[in-house]
Amino acid sequence: MKKIRYRYLIGNILLAVILFLVLAGNRSLYLNNIEEQNQNYSKKTSDEIEIIFRSYKDMTDIIYHQIINTPEIAQHLYLSHQYPATAGNHRKALQKNVSELYAYLLQYHYRQLHFHLPDTASFLRMHRPEKYGDILSGVRSTVRYANEYKKPAIGFEEGRIVNGYRFVYPLFYQGNHAGSVEISISMKAVIRIMEDLFENSYGFIIKKETVMEKVFEEELKNYETCGLSSDYFIDKEISSADICRNLPETLKNKPKMEQTVATKLSAEDDFTIYLDERDFKGALTFISIKNFDGWHVGYLFTLNNDHIYRHFLSDFHRSNIIILLFFLLLAAAFTFLIYANNKFRNLAIVDKLTNTYSRHFFHEFYKKLVQKLSREEKTMVLIMADIDHFKEINDTFGHPAGDRVLKKIASIFVHNIRSSDIVARWGGEEFVFLIDNINLENGVKVAEKIRQIIEETEFHKGLSVTCSFGVDIITQERSDLNELLSSVDQKLYTAKQKGRNRVEF
Ligand code: GH3
Ligand code: MG
Ligand code: MG
Repeated sequence: MKKIRYRYLIGNILLAVILFLVLAGNRSLYLNNIEEQNQNYSKKTSDEIEIIFRSYKDMTDIIYHQIINTPEIAQHLYLSHQYPATAGNHRKALQKNVSELYAYLLQYHYRQLHFHLPDTASFLRMHRPEKYGDILSGVRSTVRYANEYKKPAIGFEEGRIVNGYRFVYPLFYQGNHAGSVEISISMKAVIRIMEDLFENSYGFIIKKETVMEKVFEEELKNYETCGLSSDYFIDKEISSADICRNLPETLKNKPKMEQTVATKLSAEDDFTIYLDERDFKGALTFISIKNFDGWHVGYLFTLNNDHIYRHFLSDFHRSNIIILLFFLLLAAAFTFLIYANNKFRNLAIVDKLTNTYSRHFFHEFYKKLVQKLSREEKTMVLIMADIDHFKEINDTFGHPAGDRVLKKIASIFVHNIRSSDIVARWGGEEFVFLIDNINLENGVKVAEKIRQIIEETEFHKGLSVTCSFGVDIITQERSDLNELLSSVDQKLYTAKQKGRNRVEF
């Protein structure tokens, strides 16, 4: 029984370990699905930005080549640079010349048309014509690059008034460098176009140090510290402030998530995290925006309110339930098998080693015989036998030799009773006989005869073995097996006390 319990325990521990591993595997599958989907969202959002940027770049290239880089326009810059006294007139003429173009550009969401002289001095800002003359090379890499290398400089750039994608091209008059022009689209416009096209809302946060360095002081009112990270400002004009104002409030109860977001924001890479909060459900994606010089300056962000994550979660729960049910079934089957096997063993009729009957069979047989007692007015005898000093035999000759002795004694027992009698192995080296239809006197004779035969048997080169016996009578009135067993056991004990190799009754 102990062995069975041990096996059962080991089996269940094994099942639990496998269950744990399978559940862990399922969980990692779920997390992988989320991570993969997160990456899809990062890729999708950065592709969306790229689509807008490329389209604008192509369109702007055409405007530059076909309309702006012409002698009619470039002459104003060239001559202003050569003859600074004439700059005022040229500025006015240039403004008049490009005002129609500028109106068109505004319709197509462009924000700036800005001319610079070769020394990067601002010459004409169409969006703020009264502000000019400031030297841009310190704050505007694109303008510096276009004038220094006389090549287009294209990319995102933070500015003194607006942030956006800049297309800065050098201008030439009669083969001479005349300055440069910037045609740019603001981040706000990019976001509005993305919102129209992709039916989602987007926002923009910018690194604080960038703003402090570049932005005109009177423009600072447009910025507010983003609650997600003190390193970033949110550009209020272009972003819904939810992500910076309400999300941090929501995440306050989720320090781990709060920390993850802060860490990722300071790592300055693209990332997407899955949120399952009251007002924020779905993929929150941050795409790093790098400026013309290659520095990370801010993040474009969006919340993709997608149900696919819910499917992942419900799939995860469903497979967990299936796994648990399956293992429950397995555990039940295992328990059933162990117990069925155990029961089967208990139900066995014959003891394997000695070929005598099993204890279980003895009980069944006894019940049947006892029922006949009253009908047939007979008595029976119960004998209990125990091998003397059997431990010594084991110790001296070894356990297998002990087994052989046990078998031989059992065989002597079986051959010296009638076919109506039975002998059963009660345990270890203890046997119980049920002798049918006999009185106590004759029952004692049977025991005595068997005792003698064993005493005279040579078992193993001079080894003789003896047995002790306890005998009692079974009558209609005295038929309770437990009582009888304790009586023969007591008598057997007395036989042992009196020196063994005896029959007591
Ligand atoms: P006593 O005369 O008092 O009965 O002494 P004993 O040594 O026979 O009694 P004890 O109950 O101390 O020891 C019984 C021994 O029987 C101990 C056990 O190892 C041995 N035994 C029980 N079942 C088997 C078996 O199936 N095979 C063998 N070889 N030995 C067994
Ligand atoms: Mg014993
Ligand atoms: Mg013994």
